[in-house]
Amino acid sequence: MSTHKPLVEARDLTMRFGGLRALDNLSLDIREGEVLGLLGPNGSGKTTFFNVLTGVYRASAGTIRFNDTELIGLKPQAIFRTGIARTFQRSRLSLPLTVFDNIVIGDYQHLRHGLFFNLFRRSAFRAEYARAVEEVRALLEIFSPPLVDRLFEPVETFSMIDRRRIEVCRALMGRPKLLLLDEPSAGMTHDETNELMDDILEVRGKLKNVTIVLIEHEMDLIRRITERCIVLSYGKKIADGTYEEITADPEVQTAYLGEAA
Ligand code: ADP
Ligand code: MG
Repeated sequence: MSTHKPLVEARDLTMRFGGLRALDNLSLDIREGEVLGLLGPNGSGKTTFFNVLTGVYRASAGTIRFNDTELIGLKPQAIFRTGIARTFQRSRLSLPLTVFDNIVIGDYQHLRHGLFFNLFRRSAFRAEYARAVEEVRALLEIFSPPLVDRLFEPVETFSMIDRRRIEVCRALMGRPKLLLLDEPSAGMTHDETNELMDDILEVRGKLKNVTIVLIEHEMDLIRRITERCIVLSYGKKIADGTYEEITADPEVQTAYLGEAA
């Protein structure tokens, strides 16, 4: 295990929604280069953690250091610029728009001239547009070569797994240091999920080992691809270790039994 300073240090995070503590004094580290599984029963605070980390919600208390930046209080765009990107539990693709449009929207801060739709005719913009096309092609070439030829087809014509690939590509366009994946298996079969994760791991190797945090219910997948797991229950961390360690932990078993009951 690395002795380096963690990439992310979350300390004493609390997120209140009225009387509910979705995160309850949560502290955890994310290590540079790892694939970390974030587990826990439904409603245990996993997505809320992503939302706090990416500035969608502002924590009621606590701090998050990312490299040398304090994230709490920063706007989502500023956090994105520090190198944190995510996918969502529910798809955020715009189905009538093309693959290209959907992916470039994820990267619009790189288009120095602002929202490109309005500036389509400017020549300075056209140069950026051409660069964006090249960049999307290059990323898709690594991620899913068959998609390259379909760059200007609407997303609604694609299968679920290709839509997920497009969402991951969108997140990767900002060349993040940290990639947050919120239940990428949602709506897919077991085989499709495995295929998608293999693609993600392959891309990860080629993109200088982006650090990945994966929220996932498919335990098979967690066992196969994570190096470490953190388990949440009622917004608290109840376990932190390898897949084997956390699944053998009685507190984790109880938390999941509670969900089954
Ligand atoms: P998980 O992703 O682990 O299933 P969430 O982080 O989505 O859980 O939710 C944790 C808890 O916080 C749940 O009880 C959920 O209902 C609550 N919660 C999440 N977001 C909000 C919100 N915007 N307003 C009120 N309650 C919320
Ligand atoms: Mg969730």
